[in-house]
Amino acid sequence: MKHLTVALLFAASAALAQTNPVPAQQAQPAEQTAKKDQPLTALPYTPSLDIPSMDRTADPCVDFYQYTCGGWMKSNPIPPDQASWSVYGKVGDENARFLWGILEEAAKPAANRSAVQQKIGDYFDACMDEARVEELGAEPLNPLLDQIGAIKSKHELASFLAKEHPRNYSSGWLFGFGSDQDFGDATQVIAFAHSGGLGLPDRDYYTKSDEKSKDIRAKYRAHVGNMLQLIGESKAEAKKDAATVMRIETALAKASLTRVERRDPYKLYHKMSPAALQKLTPAFDWNTYLADNGIGGVKTLNVTEPKFFKALNTEIVTVPLSDWKAYLRWNAAHNRAAYLSKKFVAENFDFYSKTLRGVKEITPRWKRCVRYVDRDLGEALGQEFVRRTFSAETKEKTVEMTRLIEKAMENEIKTLDWMTDATKTRALEKLHAVANKVGYPDRWRDYSALEVKRGDFFGNATRATVFESRRDLAKIGKPVDRGEWGMTPPTVNAYYNPQMNDINFPAGVLQPPLYDPKLDDAPNYGNTGSTIGHELTHAFDDEGRQFDAHGNLKDWWTPEDAKAFEERIQCIRDQYAQYTVVDEIKINSKLTSGEDVADLGGTLLAYIAWKDATANQNLQPMDGFTPDQRFFIGFAQWACENNRPENERVNAITNPHSPGKYRINGIVSDLPEFARAFGCGPNAPMVRGAKACKVW
Ligand SMILES: [Zn+2]
Repeated sequence: MKHLTVALLFAASAALAQTNPVPAQQAQPAEQTAKKDQPLTALPYTPSLDIPSMDRTADPCVDFYQYTCGGWMKSNPIPPDQASWSVYGKVGDENARFLWGILEEAAKPAANRSAVQQKIGDYFDACMDEARVEELGAEPLNPLLDQIGAIKSKHELASFLAKEHPRNYSSGWLFGFGSDQDFGDATQVIAFAHSGGLGLPDRDYYTKSDEKSKDIRAKYRAHVGNMLQLIGESKAEAKKDAATVMRIETALAKASLTRVERRDPYKLYHKMSPAALQKLTPAFDWNTYLADNGIGGVKTLNVTEPKFFKALNTEIVTVPLSDWKAYLRWNAAHNRAAYLSKKFVAENFDFYSKTLRGVKEITPRWKRCVRYVDRDLGEALGQEFVRRTFSAETKEKTVEMTRLIEKAMENEIKTLDWMTDATKTRALEKLHAVANKVGYPDRWRDYSALEVKRGDFFGNATRATVFESRRDLAKIGKPVDRGEWGMTPPTVNAYYNPQMNDINFPAGVLQPPLYDPKLDDAPNYGNTGSTIGHELTHAFDDEGRQFDAHGNLKDWWTPEDAKAFEERIQCIRDQYAQYTVVDEIKINSKLTSGEDVADLGGTLLAYIAWKDATANQNLQPMDGFTPDQRFFIGFAQWACENNRPENERVNAITNPHSPGKYRINGIVSDLPEFARAFGCGPNAPMVRGAKACKVW
């Protein structure tokens, strides 16, 4: 899937496709494994306001999350192959199970298969052919290991990486490279060179000195050693090489920006000529690298982190070639492990899922295979998904919901007391320019140039990755395709892309219990409406606000408005910094503030839009809840989740979203509309009163 430098997602782990070669998420409850482990012929239904998911013994004014999600948390233990379990995760799991049926059907070599069905069916069949994969063992890796062995000088790293980078989704292998919109001119696509080269999920894992971090590093080193042994190194050799890998990666990690720093687009924007990049990294032959990638003619690149490339140069100069080869062998095994035999898959699972995230069992093979098809042929599989699940009526209703939420945002901007008219004019201009993408792309991606063969899982995965890389690099120098999507249709997630200035809602996220065509507006505006409002608010959060209506990184705020805005963001940062993720770890609210402000703004916008949509209706209480209460319960129930403590620790470092509990309790305690709906007194824990934060 395309690497979006600054795209803002709704949820972290719910995406169906994951670029990490080690899938950790998605599953089914353990006790039901036997009877549930079969494809679904239709998607199951759960209402967007689900009373059994509540815990009505809890006091909504004391802990609203417990009140709305207590029942769900109790009856949805984390399945053994999951790091966490959530309403989003469950929908994603059901989608995968439904896609499984589509793929099994497409895998039958019938004469009347369409071209799309042939590709997805044969890819899935090859992936499911575990006997063939076992028979091959580590053999598919041999040509790559031979190439590494044949490298004669460090100068050859450039031609080697030019060949190898396009075969990988991960940003391992020293650094990352691809295309993206120019921050300064959103109409242009230019080349991007990113920091990368790490095997752990974040640079902080290499630099933190607490006991848990040291323990993870020791286990990571052991894992690297185990992988190297699987490709034939002796125990002693593997141990030495693992230490080398750790040393190289630590140097790269130290030179990389933190996640909080990377939220500042100006810190990631350093346009330069290939000659300037060459000067920054004289030991790396960029001419060869670019030419071998078919982009020898590029005039400018964005080097997101020059400091990183400077440090990379030092490493290339000082680390001996034999050590680089150890690092490359590790990357070879690591990046291909998922497509190799069981022992590779198991070793990978053991570290990345079990140790890092606390997962108990490996994801069943069918589910991993569905995920790979979605990742590699997402808009082929997506056509089949949309045809069966996404109605014109849902599209029409959610588009209308979006319109009313935009109208609410327009009114909010016009009546803000802290923003001057000059900035308001620009803000409205940006709001009116937001493109709404709902369901699926207008034009499907053409995969005809991608060869998919039965019985060749490793080859299919490699060719698909190369196909995607070539597609990505081919965009350089061409006008931006505004119709492109960064998520596949079955994905249970949504995003705002500040450079496109568009909000994107795949079909997968517009289904029960998130969007429920059988229920009335109150829970639907609470749930899906808040998500739409969330994405729209990203256009105006502390990161998104720095881009203008056309998607250019350009300051359109008067200094006094920028200051007033930052004060309001600080209120939210202070609020969320008090909340605990797990054990002694608090939310890093400098990392989550963009998402927190989107949650707060989005919920208020959805509430206002809902009032507008139902202005002429005589709304009545249902099931003992007032209409306003039903809005807020519907809002909260998207976020019900259970999490393993190990996974919470990973989230605390890598996830820009706060834990589900605070995405609900933090928000409602800032909204007087909530306190009124539930008659909460001024001293109730869910009422921040005078301390409440408000931006939009
Ligand atoms: Zn978001």
